[in-house]
Amino acid sequence: MSRIASVLLPMPLPEAFDYAEPEGMDLAVGDHVAVPLGPRAVRGVVTALREGAGGNRPLKPVLERVGDPPMPEMTLRFVEWAARYSVDPPGQPLAMALRGLRAPKPKPIKLLAATGTAPARMTPARDKVLAAAADGPLPGPELAARAGVGAGVVKGLLDEGCLELRLEMPVTRFDAPDTARPGPTLNASQTAAARVLAGMAREGGFQAALLDGVTGSGKTEVYLEAVAAALDADPAAQVLVMLPEIALTQAVIARFEDRFGALPAEWHSAVPPPRRRQVWEGVATGRARIVVGARSALFLPFPNLRLIVVDEEHDGSFKQEEGFIYQARDLAVARASLEKCAVVLASATPSLESLWNAEQGRYRWLRLAARHGASELPDVTLIDMRETPPEPGRWLSPPLIEAMKETYGRSEQTLLFLNRRGYAPLVLCRACGERMKAPDSDSWLVEHRYTGRLVCHLTGFSMPKPDRCPHCGAQDSLVSIGPGVERVEEEVRFLFPEARVAVFSSDTVYDAEGARSLVKAMTDGEIDVLVATQAAAKGHDFPLLTLVGVVDADLGLRGGDLRAGERTFQLLAQASGRAGRRERPGRAMLQTYAPEHAVMQALAAQDRDAFIAAEMAGRELAGLPPFGRLAAIICSGPDPVALEAYVRALAAAAPNAEGVDIYGPADAPLAMVRGRRRKRFLVRADRSVDLQGFLAAWRARARPPGSVRVAIDVDPYSFL
Ligand code: ADP
Repeated sequence: MSRIASVLLPMPLPEAFDYAEPEGMDLAVGDHVAVPLGPRAVRGVVTALREGAGGNRPLKPVLERVGDPPMPEMTLRFVEWAARYSVDPPGQPLAMALRGLRAPKPKPIKLLAATGTAPARMTPARDKVLAAAADGPLPGPELAARAGVGAGVVKGLLDEGCLELRLEMPVTRFDAPDTARPGPTLNASQTAAARVLAGMAREGGFQAALLDGVTGSGKTEVYLEAVAAALDADPAAQVLVMLPEIALTQAVIARFEDRFGALPAEWHSAVPPPRRRQVWEGVATGRARIVVGARSALFLPFPNLRLIVVDEEHDGSFKQEEGFIYQARDLAVARASLEKCAVVLASATPSLESLWNAEQGRYRWLRLAARHGASELPDVTLIDMRETPPEPGRWLSPPLIEAMKETYGRSEQTLLFLNRRGYAPLVLCRACGERMKAPDSDSWLVEHRYTGRLVCHLTGFSMPKPDRCPHCGAQDSLVSIGPGVERVEEEVRFLFPEARVAVFSSDTVYDAEGARSLVKAMTDGEIDVLVATQAAAKGHDFPLLTLVGVVDADLGLRGGDLRAGERTFQLLAQASGRAGRRERPGRAMLQTYAPEHAVMQALAAQDRDAFIAAEMAGRELAGLPPFGRLAAIICSGPDPVALEAYVRALAAAAPNAEGVDIYGPADAPLAMVRGRRRKRFLVRADRSVDLQGFLAAWRARARPPGSVRVAIDVDPYSFL
């Protein structure tokens, strides 16, 4: 009896295709294969095998099996689950899961080895080379260096056949973690939390926990104990620790190395492609036991996953907004449930969704209420900008400047936080009022003084700042409105000419090395005032930092989306949590025009629970997440007429369903991006509704024309 193989291809196709298994190929689920698709041969993964001959038409045969390590079956089931959840074809998450395999293989290294043949004429230099080569093959330059001779001597021996060239693949080393190394002595509440998490990791089976502790309370130390327990429970066990990309610093990696005497495998955008391939293979073969990575690490092929940790679980960057749209924190819980393993979500400011799950008893709720050791949470004060405004054209108010003076006088550090890159967020013409916009998008151009350019932060478009208004032609009429970090830096230099000032944003720090040296300068006290975007709002621990000033605390509230209040609270709580991490007490000052706002009041009182309660009540009233479900459908296209016709047809095709509200179509707030117009529907549904099923059925009823793209965003975070 012959068999049929279902093969999933990493492309946007609705389902796996069937092929005939050739005699003797003996395929298994998870095998990588080459199959014919039209005139081409393409690679895919076997997702199922069944007996049968394939009906009337003979099936095309699988061409060959490819020798990569197979995809574990649970990784495939997870890929299918993720596709259903995101209302996307399964080939899209499969492509993500195979990304590491598409990276180029590492190049072989050239080594020279002794052949045992003695040279016709021995010299002292040649003798030294052969002695050095006796220890094992070495790259040519290193061999010459060890022997203390020139390259010519080595080449001579190679030409004579006394040395030979060997090509070796670089060794894929994954250090074995040593869980017996002692961690720090945990305090009582840390011990209690660590015991619960370690128990979960040891027992196996799906269990979820929320590790909810203020910044500096030792959450990392606690979950490292759970990692140790998971690795101890089974010699093949693997652990995945996910972090927001910008928190993946050397400091975090170093803590794993300290604790386990081994570097974890890293998976994020800065890992070079050949290394990614090694990590993919190391994970698939079980050799990489600890992976520390960004959101896409969730799609790695773990055969034996025992624990997933999502650190900074509230962070918006776990949501991928382009291509395959997914929320990695939610999918991490789904993957843990499929893998029947433990999952820990950690944060000082957990998301409302996770708090709700903890309240409902779905997650175990572990709280660490105090900072470890002597350090205390900073005092938070609100500066009412209506009462003590900055001088015209400036952004720092007198009380904040006064506090900066005191701090500087004590040789302590200030962090000024403003989540806005560049010099000014808006440039307008004083003569005609024109606001400078990108030519093909609906967003303002941001002025950058370091580069002298106007930049669109949405698409990356940029142009030199013109001398004349492009609209009315007036000379020197363009003025910069509002502050960015560069402008605040200018003001600090003016106020404190002697102080050492630095800016931390993605424009001044663009790689890991730059971040490392700036963090070191700050830690070593070589900077007095650091002006920073959210790149520095979390994760770092600066002993001399005692004052955090938030330049525009109202910034995040103006967007007006579902999570605006929550996000502002989280960001500001994290930013003010940077102050006074050691023995010196810290304070945080928030400049606001709305001190009466619930977010500001909760921050000043450091009363998270009151803020959460108010926010939850508002969401419940509106039936919004976590009390209801939400999705956005964004339709876009270059031709406004075709787009309008399609969104009307889509609106008319909406299925009737209880408990579902549809809003739109309306212009998306960003009505044009890269020359494509955008229309949006928002869909709200009761929790009892199968929202994904509804969306899939709806979309199937109205096929878009070729020029229109339809993107479904389940549980949207960006409302643009
Ligand atoms: P969080 O992850 O909650 O922000 P960390 O785990 O980073 O907290 O801990 C904050 C600081 O306190 C770190 O420098 C950490 O090494 C230290 N720390 C936490 N708990 C202990 C402990 N029990 N013993 C010694 N140092 C600790």
